[in-house]
Amino acid sequence: MDKIKMVTPLVEMDGDEMTRILWKIIKEELLLPFIDLKTEYYDLGLEHRNETEDQVTIASAEATKKYGVAVKCATITPNAARMTEYHLKEMWKSPNGTIRSILDGTVFRAPIVVKGIEPCVKNWQKPITIARHAYGDIYKNVEMKISGAGKAELVFTAADGTEMREVIHKFEGEGILQGVHNTDASISSFARACFNYALDTKQDLWFGAKDTISKKYDHNFKDIFQEIYDEEYKEKFEAAEIEYFYSLIDDIVARVMKAKGGFIWACKNYDGDVMSDMVSSAFGSLAMMTSVLVSPAGVYEYEAAHGTVQRHYYKHLKGEETSTNSVATIFAWTGALRKRGELDATAELVQFADKLEKATLATIESGKMTKDLALITTLKDVTVLNSADFIKEVRRTYETM
Ligand code: NAP
Ligand code: MG
Repeated sequence: MDKIKMVTPLVEMDGDEMTRILWKIIKEELLLPFIDLKTEYYDLGLEHRNETEDQVTIASAEATKKYGVAVKCATITPNAARMTEYHLKEMWKSPNGTIRSILDGTVFRAPIVVKGIEPCVKNWQKPITIARHAYGDIYKNVEMKISGAGKAELVFTAADGTEMREVIHKFEGEGILQGVHNTDASISSFARACFNYALDTKQDLWFGAKDTISKKYDHNFKDIFQEIYDEEYKEKFEAAEIEYFYSLIDDIVARVMKAKGGFIWACKNYDGDVMSDMVSSAFGSLAMMTSVLVSPAGVYEYEAAHGTVQRHYYKHLKGEETSTNSVATIFAWTGALRKRGELDATAELVQFADKLEKATLATIESGKMTKDLALITTLKDVTVLNSADFIKEVRRTYETM
């Protein structure tokens, strides 16, 4: 059989530890036998980031802007322990943070729903996609520890030298202080990314913030979303028979718990960080969560939502068997290949992505899965497979479909 041809290369961002091992097996077993795989390869493994002084991360993001679609393996974000482990020249920044700030994107995370892995929230029948604003707030904060009595003020000096000032607090003793910001430009592109993704996937969009308490900061998010919706999206939403709906974040949380799923939940940066872990674990497992970064310019970067699974990697290095779930990484590839196929109008590539996803889910539904899923499945007579054997089993399912 002829291999499927690709027109434009995918930007391939390799990564670290156990996910790097899975990456290689996925390519060998599930992609290269069927596709004439065209990629522009960037090694974002920590050693190579260190050798290139992290320039490789920037280059991979620039390539993503150029080609439009990337697929990324999980990567280590260095901390003090990694400095010694990898003899780093510097504590390099999170690659995801670097890529996000270059692409100015919004991250959409959706659980992979499969029979036999039931959400612990029993009324959740469809996936809930979390759209996390990926800029600002506490992730770009400035903090101080206050050692004693004194006055804290918020000062803004305009370009012409005029000042705005507000007293934050008059300290009588030790305390803490934090300054956060966001920009209308970033909030607007977040809003547009959410509205576009809702139209793309024909799902309702929910957004919650704390505008009653934060009358300027959070209120600004609410106002920008509403203005953009009214001016640019209202008619399109009505035509697509989907809804945009704003409420207080606490009301949204309560409604989410009672909902059936099948909608997009737009979250401010911190809410998205926290709530995506809650939603993914309630749907079954962090290893069953996909993640795509969508930029306002229409550039896409697909990845798994989990990390490099360090604990399994150390077992692997000791020669012990691992049973690491590769589903989210497989879906990162299929997501990227499908999008590439759609943009290049190569139907075979889109069909390949659909079929590989079906084969992956069918493998699990037939009772063959990795250990993390075996522990939570409602299926009986389960076979637990090791990391490589699960991927090989998916290939067998694919070849018999
Ligand atoms: P992690 O790699 O997501 O793993 C945490 C735990 O979750 C694992 O020890 C494992 O539990 C379970 N798990 C996660 N993915 C799994 C999978 N595919 N199959 C089976 N079990 C899975 O998070 P971490 O250990 O906190 O972080 C490790 C490294 O990943 C860090 O250096 C961090 O910087 C990086 N990270 C990268 C990204 C990214 O690139 N997007 C995201 C998050 C973290 P058991 O050990 O109990 O089996
Ligand atoms: Mg988090």
